[in-house]
Amino acid sequence: KKEVECPLNKSELGNQTWGFLHTMAAYFPDKPSTDDQRDMAQFLRLFSKFYPCPTCARDFTKLIEKEPPRTSSQTELKHWLCWAHNQVNKKLGKPKFDCSKLDERWKYGWKDGSCDV
Ligand code: FAD
Repeated sequence: KKEVECPLNKSELGNQTWGFLHTMAAYFPDKPSTDDQRDMAQFLRLFSKFYPCPTCARDFTKLIEKEPPRTSSQTELKHWLCWAHNQVNKKLGKPKFDCSKLDERWKYGWKDGSCDV
């Protein structure tokens, strides 16, 4: 059967966007330059402005205004993003993610080796 590629729905868009954002945070410098810190904060502000789901964009922009991205190190950024994603999870009634598992989920794979194929 031929695979048909279709436009992303809200859930697919969200899932793929979080994958990009968490992976990007996992590879952000440990010691970012002042420019890197400013640019990443700016990127997150601009990205949320243009995120193609109006209610998501509105709420996420508000969240960023209230609790600005922390970009002084990789650890700060990935934990800020984990917190922000958990705020969205809470709004949608999804389970809270354990942020101590960030690197297993997004960088090195699970300790039980289940990602090693
Ligand atoms: P997702 O929430 O997409 O998560 C993908 C994977 O990330 C999970 O399977 C899990 O392994 C991991 N994960 C989960 N939580 C965390 C965390 N805190 N830190 C790190 N990793 C985690 N949808 C709406 O209906 N309304 C909205 O207002 C809305 N706002 C959004 C705002 C943004 C900025 C984004 C990127 C998405 C938004 N979405 C919104 C989409 C929504 O968050 C989900 O992406 C979508 O519902 C699909 O959910 P999912 O079950 O595939 O898991």
